[in-house]
Order: sequence, then structure tokens, then C-alpha cells
Amino acid sequence: MDEQDVVRKARAFMQGLDLSNIRESLEPYLTKANARVREEELGPGESGTVAEIKGRLVITVNSTESLERQRFTICHELGHKVLGLDSSHQHVPPWGHVKRDMTEVLCDVFAAELLMPHDQFSAVCRDSEPSLMTMLSLMDAFKTSFPATGSRFARLTNAPCAFVNMQGGLVRYAAMSTPLRKLGARITLKTPIPARSLAARLRQAKTSEFQDGDVAQDEWFENWPTGLDLIELSRHHDGSDTTLSLLWFEEEDAPRMEVDRFGQRVQEDNGLDELTGVLSWKKR
Ligand SMILES: [Zn+2]
Repeated sequence: MDEQDVVRKARAFMQGLDLSNIRESLEPYLTKANARVREEELGPGESGTVAEIKGRLVITVNSTESLERQRFTICHELGHKVLGLDSSHQHVPPWGHVKRDMTEVLCDVFAAELLMPHDQFSAVCRDSEPSLMTMLSLMDAFKTSFPATGSRFARLTNAPCAFVNMQGGLVRYAAMSTPLRKLGARITLKTPIPARSLAARLRQAKTSEFQDGDVAQDEWFENWPTGLDLIELSRHHDGSDTTLSLLWFEEEDAPRMEVDRFGQRVQEDNGLDELTGVLSWKKR
């Protein structure tokens, strides 16, 4: 099972349900999955537990955690049930946690589909410019965290945009919009956070506030032309050593290049080069 399978299964699960009030109540999902939710004061760091009682799934959430966190826990646990993936944890680890195994990542993907239904989310996100304001209003509307919202936004927006999740000073995961992928952008995973990025600066300063600023595009993207800037919106959580960045730029700041039919980036040639019929390949 991969992420695409999970997305398909989540959408099949949601098919036909009335989702008009889903940002307020997860009841349609619970009914469909024959599950119910109990609230209980659990220990710090413990998000929830699940039990099967008389054939019914009972999800206990920690009443001391935020509503956003509780909703995530519920949908993550529904993922285990609907996808038929055994839970390997006592409690739901935080989004994008470095030690998560594949099963947990897939249940996160399932939770994202349920919390941010594709049609509702993309309708809002298509017409919104990437910005801190946009992020905050989406997080508020869908009651989702910055990592969950940011990665979904980066996938669905029409702007060249990426969302990068960093753990312990290493780049772990990057989600990218279609326009950015079409430019051939790549972000190197499992490498240190780029030194001149805003993310690296916030992590060093141990600042937990959102900050945004201009950063060179080639700081973030592999094998990229120099001299172009992007905007980076970043936040660092020192406790879990997690750093998150939303990256984007205006269409007119996009490098002038194309991707060939092999998915490789080619510099836009001038007329003379074209006449020679020889393509110059930039070695990666
Ligand atoms: Zn899980």
C-alpha cells in the first residue's frame, strides 16, 4: 500500500457522506466506521488509545490536548481501522515524527484526507496566495496543524510552492506543487538544512515564532540557477527539534527553463543553440 492507495481508500470511505459540517463535527466518519469517541484526561504526550468494544471501535482522546490534536488523533485511528493497518503505538506520535514507520505515515495521509477534504480544501487554496495569513486562516478553518496544512497546501496550490519538514537539523520530507515540479525543482532529502535558509537561522536562534523572508532559490533547490529569490515562511519547535518551511515564489520569479520529456531540466536555449540541434545537458 502506498500514499496513492491510501488517498483512494480515504476518498472511497468519504464517498456519499455529508461533509458540509465536517470542520465542526467528525460524526459522519465515526458513524461510517462504527466508532465512537471518549474524552479522558490522559498523561502528557499521550494522545489517545483505542479499544474494540462489542465490535465497535472506541477511540479515547486526551482531553488536555488541543481540539486540533484530538481531531487528528481520531482520524489517524480511523485510518488504522479503515486501512486495516495494525497500530504499532501506544499513543499517536506527532505529525511527521522522525521515528514513524510507514504504517503511521499512511495513517497520517488518511487523516489529512479526512480533515481537509480535497474539494473543500482545494477550492479555498487555489485562489489563495501563499502567505502566513493564508496558512493561519486555513489552519483555523480546517482545525489542522501547520505541518498538516502546509504540506496539503503545497500539493494543491497553483503557485510554485513547497513545504519542507525538517527533524533534528535534517531535511526529512518535502511536498511540492505541480507548477514547481514542472519546473524540475528538487529538494535534497536526508541532508542538513541549507545553511542560509530561514529554517537554519530559526533553529539556531531557537525561536518558535513564525517568520518569513527572502531566501535565494538555489539555497533550497538542487542544481538551480542563481540570482532568484523565493519567500520562506518558517517555524521551529525546539522541544521536538522540528523545523517547518513553506517556500514559494511568484510566477515572474520562476527561472526560465523547461523540463524535457525525460523529466530533466534544460536551460532555455537561445536561437543559435536550437539551430545546432544539440541539446546541452546540465550534469546533476
Ligand atoms: Zn498510528
